[in-house]
Amino acid sequence: MGKETALKNYEDLKALAGREGATLFGVADVTAVKDRFYIEPKSAVEGLDYGISIGVRLSGRILETVVNEPTKLYAFHYKRINSLLDEIALKLGDFIQNSGYSALPIPASHVEDWQNQRGAVSHKMVGHLAGLGFIGRSALLVNPKFGAQARYTTILTDIPLKTDAPDNSNCGECCACVAVCPVKAIKKDVKDFNLMACRELLKTFANKPGIGHSICGICVKVCKGKF
Ligand code: SF4
Ligand code: SF4
Repeated sequence: MGKETALKNYEDLKALAGREGATLFGVADVTAVKDRFYIEPKSAVEGLDYGISIGVRLSGRILETVVNEPTKLYAFHYKRINSLLDEIALKLGDFIQNSGYSALPIPASHVEDWQNQRGAVSHKMVGHLAGLGFIGRSALLVNPKFGAQARYTTILTDIPLKTDAPDNSNCGECCACVAVCPVKAIKKDVKDFNLMACRELLKTFANKPGIGHSICGICVKVCKGKF
């Protein structure tokens, strides 16, 4: 299959994603990271060597309502954006299948392994490989334009596609999120990120009336991008 076909498929899917409400679109070669997928049996992902990463921007004004904890407005927005991402992924998957190829849409927010809090595929890993951002000090995917203020989903596929290059930039001098984390989970080096401390606080927030999800939003609010 030629480069022209791969480019046309890329452009067609990008345009469709944009029409359906996606803010960000990129394609990763996922052949080297397939062993990190939490999908069984392995035959389900055989030949699916491309990861389409779709991002939808969060509302800056809704994030303004997050001061010391997530608000009901933010919780609703978070759920709605996940639904939108899932809808876009389904429509792209349908387009791919109608073109004679395979597509495996991964839900925007779901946990396969509760013990280790792992989803079937790390959307931020695929987003990074697809050139949509880098992993910041907050362990979130940071897009140059929107910072951490976007959510992502992934479609694994075998339709021939042009691929993007990973974004290997970094936070630079910014430390905005380090100071605001209530449990000091964010450190200068993302390798030292205290996942347990973050997870415990998110569990507390999830139990608050009207929240119901492991969300926080405090570090997301200060990570505005525009690098
Ligand atoms: S989500 Fe909340 S608790 Fe977790 S690192 Fe960000 S600010 Fe800290
Ligand atoms: S707020 Fe600054 S330091 Fe934190 S992840 Fe975003 S860019 Fe990096």
